[in-house]
Amino acid sequence: MKIGLRQVILPIALVALVVMPGSRKLSAQTEAAATTKAPTPTKAAGKKKLVKKSAKAKAAKKGPPPTPAKVLFGAATVPAPLKARAIGFYAKGCLAGAKGIAVDGPAWQVMRLSRNRRWGHPQLIATVERLAADVKAHDGWNGLLVGDISQPRGGPMLTGHASHQIGLDADIWLTPMPDRKLTNREREDLPATSMLAADRVSVNPEVWTEAHGKLILRAASYPQVERVLVHPAIKKALCENKAFARTNFNKIRPYWGHHYHMHVRLGCPKDSPGCTPQPVVGTEDGCGKEVDEWIARFKRIYGPRPPQPEPKVVVPKVKPKPKPEITLADLPTECKAVLGNTSPPGPSPVSDVAKPDPEMADTAESDEPEDKAAKGDKPAVAGKK
Ligand SMILES: [Zn+2]
Repeated sequence: MKIGLRQVILPIALVALVVMPGSRKLSAQTEAAATTKAPTPTKAAGKKKLVKKSAKAKAAKKGPPPTPAKVLFGAATVPAPLKARAIGFYAKGCLAGAKGIAVDGPAWQVMRLSRNRRWGHPQLIATVERLAADVKAHDGWNGLLVGDISQPRGGPMLTGHASHQIGLDADIWLTPMPDRKLTNREREDLPATSMLAADRVSVNPEVWTEAHGKLILRAASYPQVERVLVHPAIKKALCENKAFARTNFNKIRPYWGHHYHMHVRLGCPKDSPGCTPQPVVGTEDGCGKEVDEWIARFKRIYGPRPPQPEPKVVVPKVKPKPKPEITLADLPTECKAVLGNTSPPGPSPVSDVAKPDPEMADTAESDEPEDKAAKGDKPAVAGKK
């Protein structure tokens, strides 16, 4: 039987039409596979091996990465038995001969004992003790709740703060001290009171009192105190209170976080030549443009936003590279001696507290601008605290 050309082509074309979408996909897949594959399997395998080998050789030459300094300093449970001195910078240094503030004093109680961060340069400890006594005697405070100071040998911390490394920074809670001795458990669990209203750009009149202002001003009045960091809403509240003289307002610096504690920072003490000072604060009270700019920034973050048009091109988000860990080699050489033969982490010095609470990782208590991290906004004066 003779088959005509038309009889052959027609069925083939029909079959092709039905199968095409799938077959196209298939061919596309194989194409993709082909382009991602190396030209020849043997060559590719050889190359891969070579790359692996050289990377291994490099790693072997380099050795394991150095232990982050925060692990080493976090393991120190007692201070370095050396002459007291602050070494390096507030956010990159360590502390020799630290003094521990008493867990309970005549006018204070130390919080979060499991963290073991009640250590500081003796001048800082004396300042906190005096502040507690002064506000109890003059400013309507029953006493102070003392937050983080430094680790026994200072240095970077496993959680929380970027600063507090050289024993010259202390966090003082804005929550009034209760009229009784808190248990260790309460010292771990008691939440600190935020001074902010719901708008997060002003203070809450239900919790913020003139006594809070007096406490902050009292801290700023000591000549050894170089800075007191507070939330911009708190600075604004101080500026708006006509009862307060603006002396020392220049030392009260607005900064991220710091709405339930103030951060008291001493200048470099005379006995610490290895201490790196911060730029001197200016003489301006900071009540005009400066605080207003901070408030405006926070309003941009927390205020209602106008509806934004859909972006036309979706740009894939690139994950920022994590900051390299501070190692012992990054710190002043003296910090090696301060660290000495620190024993590995032991049990908590506080017997009835099994574990430090997860709030330790709470960025709100750190010095990092948590809002910046969360909302992608950059403080124009970051670091200039
Ligand atoms: Zn602090």
